[in-house]
Amino acid sequence: MNVPFVGYKIQYQNLKSEIDSAIEDVLSRGDLILRKDTDEFERRLAEFVGAKYAIGLNSGTDALFLSLLAMGIGKGDEVITVSHTFVASIAAIVQAGATPILVDVSDDFVMDADKLEEAIGEKTKAIIPVYLNGRMCDMDKIMEIANKHNLIVIEDSAQALGASFNGKKAGSIGLTGCFSFYPAKILGCFGDGGGLTTNDEKIAEKVRLLRDHGQKTKTEILYYGWNSRIDNLQAAVLNVKLDHLSKWIDRRREIAMMYQSGLSDVSNIKLPPAPNSDEKHFDVFQNYVLRAEKRDEFFNFLKENGVETLIKDPIANHMHKGLNLSHFSLPMSEQLAKEVISLPMYPELTNEQIEYIISTVRRFYGNQNK
Ligand SMILES: *Cc1c(COP(=O)(O)O)cnc(C)c1O
Repeated sequence: MNVPFVGYKIQYQNLKSEIDSAIEDVLSRGDLILRKDTDEFERRLAEFVGAKYAIGLNSGTDALFLSLLAMGIGKGDEVITVSHTFVASIAAIVQAGATPILVDVSDDFVMDADKLEEAIGEKTKAIIPVYLNGRMCDMDKIMEIANKHNLIVIEDSAQALGASFNGKKAGSIGLTGCFSFYPAKILGCFGDGGGLTTNDEKIAEKVRLLRDHGQKTKTEILYYGWNSRIDNLQAAVLNVKLDHLSKWIDRRREIAMMYQSGLSDVSNIKLPPAPNSDEKHFDVFQNYVLRAEKRDEFFNFLKENGVETLIKDPIANHMHKGLNLSHFSLPMSEQLAKEVISLPMYPELTNEQIEYIISTVRRFYGNQNK
């Protein structure tokens, strides 16, 4: 059996008629930039997240970057985030001209709220909690600390559309929520795309202008901005896929449950928190990431047996020389980089494929134990 790591082709086959007709509709209208499909997507994204405003952007990276700019955060300011994330969370801070301060994560892969306060200093302006793998941080603790120190919170929700903590959805808690619609994300378009949510009218207005060169109208330019617009065609694709999102999230959680029951007794691996293991967390399983003994051999064994997996970030971000972050010492992040491996996780996986993955994982460690 062969199990690819992503389900792009099968998802397209499943939705072909809906998607093809949405694309044909947009193209025959000639609606390419900031047209009604974008407006509709923004309205629906805001509604789904439970925020007042949503703005369609070209990427999750720019959602983070424009958040910082719109808030006036830049040179001389410090922003706290984690090293154990996709590098974009840190890059946005650097590109805005601010200084990233990195804290460690807990064994559930997200920011350790107990490490946060010691990282706060005179220059700290904001915190970017990252909801890695579709699991939110303890946002009660983080918001309490942020409020106490008068800090802005930007939620890196790029992996967590639909997730919630204590009944609050990702992207509805901080000053902004940042989303990515990169193809592999829970809601993915056919290229790059992103979005920002906020309840703050001024921030919404500012980001709207920054994404389109500060152009208020066709004749009035307020300030210098960027080109960070979502493509209208991608917005139309996302409108089609949004109808399926809740069902897809349910299926991701179901697959996580199958992995949990099939693998929880294998002592050489450590599974992520099971769905429903903590009633505060509603995790959406953007990724299913294990900590594995003999990780690299395990990866090769799975590959030889037709199961495609991913080792994302085998080197912690702060350990890359070119990023100038090597002054941080983050033991858990460094350890995780050596152990993490992602199993296939997408709604189109069949139960047979999941059973096969489980038995292949068991076979590797069974042989190892002899
Ligand atoms: C994907 C991702 C981003 C960046 O989104 P892009 O759309 O690829 O720019 C930022 N943060 C995290 C945690 C991500 O997973």
